[in-house]
Amino acid sequence: MSRVFNFSAGPAVLPLEVLEEIQRDLLDYAGSGMSIMESSHRGKEYSAVHEEAVANTKELLQLDDNHSVLFMQGGASTQFPLIPMNFLGAGQTADYTNSGAWAGKAIKEAKLIGNVNIAADCGKEIPTRVPSESELNLTPGAAYLHITSNETISGAQWKSFPKTEAPLIADMSSDMLSRPFDANAFGLIYAGSQKNLGPAGMALVIIRNDLADRVPENTPTMFKYKTHIDANSLFNTCPTFTIYTYMLVTRWIKKMGIDALYKQNVDKAAKLYAAIDAGDFYKGTAVLECRSDMNITWRLPTEALEAQFIAEATKQDLKGLKGHRSVGGIRASIYNAFPTAGIDTLVSFMQEFERTNG
Ligand SMILES: *Cc1c(COP(=O)(O)O)cnc(C)c1O
Repeated sequence: MSRVFNFSAGPAVLPLEVLEEIQRDLLDYAGSGMSIMESSHRGKEYSAVHEEAVANTKELLQLDDNHSVLFMQGGASTQFPLIPMNFLGAGQTADYTNSGAWAGKAIKEAKLIGNVNIAADCGKEIPTRVPSESELNLTPGAAYLHITSNETISGAQWKSFPKTEAPLIADMSSDMLSRPFDANAFGLIYAGSQKNLGPAGMALVIIRNDLADRVPENTPTMFKYKTHIDANSLFNTCPTFTIYTYMLVTRWIKKMGIDALYKQNVDKAAKLYAAIDAGDFYKGTAVLECRSDMNITWRLPTEALEAQFIAEATKQDLKGLKGHRSVGGIRASIYNAFPTAGIDTLVSFMQEFERTNG
């Protein structure tokens, strides 16, 4: 067996020990004589998995009793419209910060539902960044403020979160559970599972329970957060295998400790940024204060050199380094499960590539 270093933005690398455990238990889960994939979502084996996935999330985030943990389908993209459908009533305004491609998609959907104020707009700026708290132009009495905690494509990340009167809502698809933060300060947090949490197939949602009561009565049942809070994410058949894998990932995070994991993430990113900053050949895409610890983005002097860089890296089993098709350049996604050895190998490769092509 040979495993490559997988820099993909998502679906992305998973902890090897989690994959090995899944493999070991695949055909006969906990003596049940069947795979967890084949088990009823209301049976005893899966119920224990589901409860532990919720409990581990609450423990890792130190959630209070006013917040619920939900597993929902449709990825993070379905949350874009669900949020305004549930919280943005007629005559109200929701504030959104535009920091790039993902924030832009959330804004586009919200505008289909209700009134949107762009509280700050740096979505098209190069170098890329997220807004600072002081530049936010907030609406008094806003339904909520929506931010994108980490712009996966541009590689810009909020390092601390704004304090607001209105409920704070964050798309944390690419940095959820990568660092300690006060989750109880948020009205809602959502994250597609396939970046830092597990395989594709769900969005993890943390919601302050009282917000769910705002939903208009004619909202379809499946689209109401209240439905999923009341049913503990078991209103219909949930994505059991994804939640099972997510549960194993949260066990792994608990064992590592979120503070230790965060330190490791910062160290990994710092090594890569140091290699980018070492000379003039590589150029980081994001402004210094906003550089993401999860998605490291940079350019080479020409697009031809970028294509050559990606092709040669791929040959050396450094896979998934191509920047998003909308922006080009190089992107190394180095989520929680990405090993430090892969960073060291990439840094050596970068030095050698610059030596022969710089
Ligand atoms: C990947 C991503 C999404 C979209 O996730 P899907 O699960 O594919 O819908 C949304 N927001 C951010 C920040 C992302 O990185």
